[in-house]
Amino acid sequence: MHPDLQTVRELQDVDQSIGVLTARIDAIPAQIKQIQDQLNQFLHAYEERKKRLAENQKERRDMDAEVQMVRAKISKHKDQLYEVKTNEAYKAMVHEIEGEEAKIRSIEDRILDEMAEAEQLESYVHDAAARLDSERSRVAAEIKDLEAERAKDLAERGSLEERRQTLVAALSSSTVRLYERARKSRGTAVVPVIDASCSGCHVRLRPQFYNEIRTSDALHTCESCGRILFYLELATDKGVEGTRVAM
Ligand SMILES: [Zn+2]
Repeated sequence: MHPDLQTVRELQDVDQSIGVLTARIDAIPAQIKQIQDQLNQFLHAYEERKKRLAENQKERRDMDAEVQMVRAKISKHKDQLYEVKTNEAYKAMVHEIEGEEAKIRSIEDRILDEMAEAEQLESYVHDAAARLDSERSRVAAEIKDLEAERAKDLAERGSLEERRQTLVAALSSSTVRLYERARKSRGTAVVPVIDASCSGCHVRLRPQFYNEIRTSDALHTCESCGRILFYLELATDKGVEGTRVAM
């Protein structure tokens, strides 16, 4: 086996682990933001409904006051009925009183609507207020966990990057070039030969080339995709069950 082969395979494992960690590390800020946004939406909805409830209460007080005022007017107009001199003036006054009574009915309908609204708002505000602290601490705990996870991933990635430097330093520069080129263009750079084919691009190897890989200590790359190849001894090749070499 070529001295670089084991190292370059480890390098690929390290790079894959770095890739997984980087994806996780990069995703965490968005996850934190999402949790925070959800809490902010909840707090905003709570504040909005509290504000609306206060408006509702003020509107009902105003409408109550207006009803009192119209009632006072009606009572005054009813007294004036006895004082009018003409039939027409009497009719006009009755008409006015009817208008005022209709106004009271319409205000009272609105009061009823607002009472129903207030009931819903009170129930929401009451429930939300009870959940406020637990929601805040739940979100704080979740964010703390995510930040801890991110710090752990960053530390792990840091030590893998150190390991990577050691591995790269141990490889010949030509192997590093082959590896980096295949990794850049193919994703995976080191693949086993399985069933006399490159397991990266599945192209069947020429018999002579296949034979060379099995027997020589040189470093081989797939003639079709450029990946570094290593020979994987399989149970089928040896005719023995269960001796598959770990990849
Ligand atoms: Zn290939």
